Amino acid sequence: MSNNAVCFSDASSIIMIGARMGNIMKLNVLLTATRGLQVEDARHAINVLESKLGKLFTFELNTLTIAPPAEGYNEEREQYSAEIFLSAAQDLKTANGRFSSIILTDVDIFAKFTNYIFGLADMVQRVAVASSHRIHPSFWGMKETREFFEEQWGKVVTHEFGHTIGLLHCNNWDCVMKYSNSPPELHKKGRDFCSKCGEELNNLIRKLASES
Ligand SMILES: [Zn+2]
Ligand SMILES: [Zn+2]
Repeated sequence: MSNNAVCFSDASSIIMIGARMGNIMKLNVLLTATRGLQVEDARHAINVLESKLGKLFTFELNTLTIAPPAEGYNEEREQYSAEIFLSAAQDLKTANGRFSSIILTDVDIFAKFTNYIFGLADMVQRVAVASSHRIHPSFWGMKETREFFEEQWGKVVTHEFGHTIGLLHCNNWDCVMKYSNSPPELHKKGRDFCSKCGEELNNLIRKLASES
């Protein structure tokens, strides 16, 4: 196979999950909102991903919304298990024949050994979930502005999408792949991929092309 970053040639397995634009194969990413998430928050997620990665991927907002998976609700914690969202994202990925699938939600999510998380991804299955719940400054009793919320929300969505491509955490505070598990850390880190992660992203995409 060609080693070119975005030229996937005639790989039929990729055709299903990508769309050819001239001689460029763009991989299709499905974003599905849960009922309750504001439409403009879902739109913003798409816009951020498109502005950063639109040359390599097609981001599509699912016309259908889903209910937060009831089996993932933990009554004691009043939170949803993020892992259950990943299973739902995987079902959506398979049913729609997409390269990757991300669920956007406004409910509070947690994973093992955490009080809460902003998002979670499975690098092997290429699925992720991002929650706006605790990204709203108002949740923490802080003054909320749309602009500030959108910047933080964009970071979480970009970070989780980066994992679905295979990117790991980065030590650089200017980088969106820096791990953050508190609002101050989220607010502090950058919104873009650092040059090292950007380079790694290109390598991973090249690898995907050569494997197909
Ligand atoms: Zn992460
Ligand atoms: Zn980085």
